[in-house]
Amino acid sequence: MKNCPYCEQDIVWNVKLKTPNALTFKMCFECDSVWNMDQTVSDTTGSNFEDLMVGKGLRLDWENVEKLQPSD
Ligand SMILES: [Zn+2]
Repeated sequence: MKNCPYCEQDIVWNVKLKTPNALTFKMCFECDSVWNMDQTVSDTTGSNFEDLMVGKGLRLDWENVEKLQPSD
């Protein structure tokens, strides 16, 4: 498991969107930081959940995120 490098309040999870396309990424649910699956989790990488969803034209909906397992 890996603690979020930004807030250090929670672990980083591998997650997927339930709809529309089962997109997978890594996310901290405490501060909404996100990383691509192929990105190294650090405080110099990543984006945030709002930018990710808006950038994809998707509704900002935390209910649409399913936790898979803690990220390594
Ligand atoms: Zn965080």
